[in-house]
Amino acid sequence: MVRTRFAPSPTGHLHVGGARTALFAWVFAKQKKGKFVLRVEDTDSLRSTAESRNAILKSMDWLGLDYDEGPYFQSDRLERYQKVAEQLLLENQAYWCYATNQELAEMRTKQKSAGIKPRYDGRWRPENAAGKSPPFGIKPVLRFKNPDEGFVTWNDLVKGQISVANRELDDLIIMRADGTPTYNFGVVVDDWDMKISHVIRGDDHVNNTPRQINIINALDFATPEYGHLSMILGSDGERLSKRHGATSVLEFKEAGYLPEAVMNYLARLGWGFGDFEKFTIKEMKQNFSLEKVSKSPAKFDVEKLNWLNQSYIKEASSKYLSSMVVKKLTSTTGDSVKDGPDIHKVISLLKDRAKTINELALSAAFFYEYLTPSEEMAKQYYTNDIYPSIKLFREKIDHINWEKDALNIVFKESISHHQKKFAELAIPLRVMVTGVTKTPALNSTLEVLGRERVCQRIDEQLIRFRE
Ligand code: GLU
Repeated sequence: MVRTRFAPSPTGHLHVGGARTALFAWVFAKQKKGKFVLRVEDTDSLRSTAESRNAILKSMDWLGLDYDEGPYFQSDRLERYQKVAEQLLLENQAYWCYATNQELAEMRTKQKSAGIKPRYDGRWRPENAAGKSPPFGIKPVLRFKNPDEGFVTWNDLVKGQISVANRELDDLIIMRADGTPTYNFGVVVDDWDMKISHVIRGDDHVNNTPRQINIINALDFATPEYGHLSMILGSDGERLSKRHGATSVLEFKEAGYLPEAVMNYLARLGWGFGDFEKFTIKEMKQNFSLEKVSKSPAKFDVEKLNWLNQSYIKEASSKYLSSMVVKKLTSTTGDSVKDGPDIHKVISLLKDRAKTINELALSAAFFYEYLTPSEEMAKQYYTNDIYPSIKLFREKIDHINWEKDALNIVFKESISHHQKKFAELAIPLRVMVTGVTKTPALNSTLEVLGRERVCQRIDEQLIRFRE
C-alpha cells in the first residue's frame, strides 16, 4: 500500500514550499488509495515552538490537507530512537565518538589547509580507537559507521537516477550527546515504523538521502521510493523569501485568498496538467504523476495566484463567500451586518470585481457603514447646477417600485427636465449615497442599499448643497 508522509519541522510557519510538498505527498497518496501521514519533527527543542506547530496544523486544515494518521510527534518517540540506536551499536554499525567540538574544529582547519574536503576522520571508529580510553567528562555522541566503499544509487521519481560515492560521506552523528536523535536518524526510524513507501520532499534533502539509505540498509528494511521536488523561486529568480511578499499559508488566508485558489496554484508550481491553469483538486487527483513534476525550479508568480483567486471568487456562491466577508467586515466596520442590506445581494453585486475576500469586504463596507463625504468631496461634487435634478430624483423615488429598472427610468426623467447628462447626476448622487466615488452600476447599488437608506442619505446630504 502506498503510504506517504509530510514531515515538517515546527520552526516556523508553513510556507509555499512546504505546503506544495504536503500537497504533492497528499495527492499522491489519495490517488493511489493509500494513506497520508503527518509527522512533526520536533526533536530540535531549541528551535521548535508550539506556535509554529499550531500554525502548521491550522494551515493544513485550512487548505483541506487532511491526514489519515498522525500527527505523530518525534518528541514522543525518543525511547524508540534510543532503542534502534542501541541495536546499531550492538551490531557494530555505530560507535561512540568522544571528539570535542574544539578537536573537530581543529581537524577541519587542518583538512582545509591541506586542501581536503572537511569531514569526520573516523578517529573513534572501533578499528582506529583500539586501546584508546574515553576521555573523562565528555559525553559522547553516537556515529553511524558509513560504508567506505561503493555507491549509493536510487532512482528518484522526479530527478531520475542519482548516485553518490560512499567515500563522499562521513560517519554522521545519529544520536546527540543529550540522547536525542539527529534529523537523518529520526527520519529513518520513523519512515520505517510508519511504513512509508514513498518519501516526497524538497530537494534540499537530496544530500541526506544517501546517508538515510545507508542507515536503512544497516537496519535491513526495504528502502522507500524517493521523489525530490525542486525549489520554488520568486519572480526575480531568487529563492522565494519574505522579500517577495506573503509566503506563508496563513498570510494568504489573512489576505483574503480562497483555499481552493491557493491549492490550485500550489499544484501548478512544478506540476503541469496540460495547458490548464485552473482545475479542481479532484482533477488533480485523477491526473497527478510525479514523472510530470518539473526537474527545474518553479517560479512563484503572485499575479497568477491573484488571477486564480479572482476567478474562484467569481464562481463561488454568495453563500460560501458570505461568512468570510462578514468576518472581515465586522472586523473593519465593527458594525452588525445583520442590520444592513442583504449580504448575499451585496456579494452578488460585487464579487465579479474582487481579487481577494479583503477587496470584496472593502468594497462592501459602505453598504453597512456610511462614511459621510468629506468637506472636500462636498465642495467638488455638490454643485448647485445639479441640485434641481437630485431634488427631483429624491421626490420621485418615494413612489416607485424599488428595483433597478425603475431607478433607471427615474434617473432619465430627473436629468431630462434640466438638460443634464447621466454622469452629471450619477457622480454626485453616488457620493451622497455611498460616500465613495467607485461602485458597481448605480441603479443596482441603490437597489441593494434599499429605499430607506438611500432616501435618508440623500436627505442628509441635500442640506449641504445650500451651505
Ligand atoms: N523535517 C524536514 C523539514 O522540514 C523534512 C524531512 C523529510 O521530509 O524527510 O525540512
